[in-house]
Amino acid sequence: MSNSDVFQDALNRVREIGADADINPEVVESLLYPKAVIKASLPVRMDDGSTKYFTGYRCRYNDVLGPTKGGIRYHPQVTGEEVQALGLWMTIKCALLRLPYGGAKGGVIVQPKELSPMELERLSRAYVRAMADFIGPQVDIPAPDVYTNARIMGWMMDEYEAIKRVRSPGVITGKPVSLGGSLGRDEATGRGAYICIRELALKQDWQPEKTRIAVQGFGNASYHVARLLQKDGFKIVAISDSQGGIYSDSGFDIESLWKEKQSSRQVRAVYCEQSVCQLVEHKEITNEELLALDVDVLVPAALEGVITNDNVKSIRAKNIVEVANGPIQTEAEAELEKQGVSILPDVLVNAGGVTVSYFEWVQNRGGYPWDLEEVRSKLEVQMTRAFEQVWKLATTENRTFRNAAYTVALRRIGEAVTSHGTREYFREDE
Ligand code: NAD
Repeated sequence: MSNSDVFQDALNRVREIGADADINPEVVESLLYPKAVIKASLPVRMDDGSTKYFTGYRCRYNDVLGPTKGGIRYHPQVTGEEVQALGLWMTIKCALLRLPYGGAKGGVIVQPKELSPMELERLSRAYVRAMADFIGPQVDIPAPDVYTNARIMGWMMDEYEAIKRVRSPGVITGKPVSLGGSLGRDEATGRGAYICIRELALKQDWQPEKTRIAVQGFGNASYHVARLLQKDGFKIVAISDSQGGIYSDSGFDIESLWKEKQSSRQVRAVYCEQSVCQLVEHKEITNEELLALDVDVLVPAALEGVITNDNVKSIRAKNIVEVANGPIQTEAEAELEKQGVSILPDVLVNAGGVTVSYFEWVQNRGGYPWDLEEVRSKLEVQMTRAFEQVWKLATTENRTFRNAAYTVALRRIGEAVTSHGTREYFREDE
């Protein structure tokens, strides 16, 4: 699926679920147009003395519930459309989790693994110089996403503060803890996803040791979800990264796999050149093969659009838990539903990240850091409440989990939109 299709696909989903859930059409319409999108050229002095121009985007999608919030992605396939789709999903996600935020997203078209650490720092600072009047702690608050991390967030905060001449830790979340980041932010997306799978397993009486799970991706989000599931006895039988995957019938020890990947890796900038494929004795599989494994739970945790019309017929998992944003194309989803596959949607599953980002922002504004247990227990409350709402609506009204999650979010956004007044309130003819 091309990235322009990703945005149209995201809009269609809102239209369809909005109509199905009887959401006021004015509310649905308010979600079809991004509030503002900025595209900027980012000049970066390269190590060889030349200047290279990168393209950066930031989309503040919708701010009816509060300042906009969303990550910044570094990837060669970033497009304006993709950034808008991701901004829309952030809008839904923040509403579902009852966070006082709207949705946003940013990205830079770059293969970050080809940059040196200093080039990466200059690029990150250039991004903030271009966006400094578009972001802000009360306006739009970025965070990490694919191939960006805490160190990059630290550089970005520093650049913003240098431009504005004021300390402003609340301008960005996912920072290093020593620079005002929150304890527990690094694991938050994975932990939130783990809570969703744990709750689903409880509702459906799964036995962890008999539950076989395949995870696509071995990054920030997927490492933590795999680690926590394995701790509870679930079997992680396959895991992958951009270079390929590995499979073991008896399951992997995630912690040692992760440590090995870290210790053996040849670091270039902040990225790992080592693939999981080179780490242990195992059967190597491709990412396509991983998606087609006959497992109880498939966890796509890399990029969007990986399950499409082209490969949907090969999917054999009984449950799909979307840690990545938008891994399933809408048409493919209809086919999965026909096949009886149950899907826990991204807007719920990966919302732990933005929830702890919100905690970080609250701590920054209050100037009072919380301990790890406080962060974890508040995340537990937020995630289980959202899960319960989605579960209840899905089971009592016979909706899919995605339909239920969107319905909860659209109703919440709807309350805010209609309290400003809709046509019904303003029309003068009756
Ligand atoms: P990351 O950069 O830490 O990890 C991404 C992983 O995906 C890496 O292991 C990479 O090798 C792998 N990957 C890249 N291309 C791939 C491909 N074509 N096939 C298989 N694997 C591939 O990123 P992350 O932060 O873990 O984000 C992963 C997903 O989770 C994204 O969709 C992101 O939007 C979503 N997400 C992340 C957060 C967060 O807080 N990190 C929050 C919400 C959603």
